[in-house]
Amino acid sequence: MDTHLERNDFDNYMIPMFSPAGFIPVKGKGSILFDQQGKDYIDFAAGIAVNALGHANSELINSVTQQMHRVWHLGNGYTNEPVLTLARELVNATFADKVFFCNSGAEANEAALKLARKYASDHYDAGKNEIIAFNGSFHGRTLFTVSAGGQPKYAKNFGPLPGGIRHVPFNNTDAAVQAISSKTCAVIVEPVQGEGGVIPANKDFLTALRKACDEHDAVLIFDEVQTGVGRTGKLYAYMNYGVVPDILSTAKGLGGGFPIGGILTTNKLSPSLSAGTHGTTYGGNPLAATAAGTVLSTINDEMFLNNIDDTHDRFVKCLTEYNDKYQVFKEIRGMGLLLGCELNENYQGMAKQLSNVCAKHGLIVLIAGPNVVRFAPALNISPEEVEKGLMRFALALEDFLIREE
Ligand SMILES: *Cc1c(COP(=O)(O)O)cnc(C)c1O
Repeated sequence: MDTHLERNDFDNYMIPMFSPAGFIPVKGKGSILFDQQGKDYIDFAAGIAVNALGHANSELINSVTQQMHRVWHLGNGYTNEPVLTLARELVNATFADKVFFCNSGAEANEAALKLARKYASDHYDAGKNEIIAFNGSFHGRTLFTVSAGGQPKYAKNFGPLPGGIRHVPFNNTDAAVQAISSKTCAVIVEPVQGEGGVIPANKDFLTALRKACDEHDAVLIFDEVQTGVGRTGKLYAYMNYGVVPDILSTAKGLGGGFPIGGILTTNKLSPSLSAGTHGTTYGGNPLAATAAGTVLSTINDEMFLNNIDDTHDRFVKCLTEYNDKYQVFKEIRGMGLLLGCELNENYQGMAKQLSNVCAKHGLIVLIAGPNVVRFAPALNISPEEVEKGLMRFALALEDFLIREE
């Protein structure tokens, strides 16, 4: 049998919805990845804000391995100890009274939006079904979540789309407050727009959304799929803002690389998803819940979270120095370890090119749209890994500028 594999096999065998990099990572440790040829990369992407504890974390390996020897899967006709441990820990650590687990961010938002619709249907007139969402937002790839998302290109040509969704400009308090009415059942917003370009919401904006939702009996949903589980320096980003949602969706970092998502909500709303109204085969599976339990107990620790802010400061200081020297970015922004560098007018549309040059220099970075280079490294990335990665970023910037001349 032919065991040789290369990047071309992706084009040979995979549906072409992605265009992955030319190299194939085969193993990792902490924030370092190695490809098939043994070349090392500093990983400032962490699988798109997923590998919160880096690669091959020993606590995760231990807890998941132990669970693998016990029970992998039961189905939701039975509950299990890891999921109850995880649920209790999330409830104790947040605003939530109740949680539900699924397998991804899109599924979490799907559940959040369905809960909001069902709650309105249980308690109000049939006309209360409108969802207010924001331009530039990203909520996942199911039909409901691409429809709620504020990037029309992701919903284009998949119609007919679910109705009753209205989009208004992000961070525009007047427009949002005007759009929210007695017909609104939910407002869905990312506290920091991730895919949309690493754009933090203004505190006044989120505060006004909370107030308008209260006035019109609408449910406020925070999509914290990207911002959750320590990413912004607090366990969840709403804690940075002091604005509490009614439903919060979480995924990405929660499993540290093991697929899991979930929603957090209150005792007021949770009865609307009673037995039989929603479901999942894998959600809350013992292996995924074990991984998430280990991630959560590691991250929900004051020292761990404070360290994220220190690492943030190191990134921003260094990136600002680079920009003083190289003049490539219009703005360096973000919270915690979700950082965006927006290219200035001389380099519009070139974020992907810059990320490719980074890979050449042994550095993995993300983009967020055509003009923003995004960093979302493991939350426990070591100071040495940060320094090494930032040094490689400087080399990549020099190389990128020479190519452009
Ligand atoms: C990644 C992301 C999603 C979708 O998560 P999947 O696990 O890919 O379904 C939803 N919302 C936000 C804010 C995200 O960053």
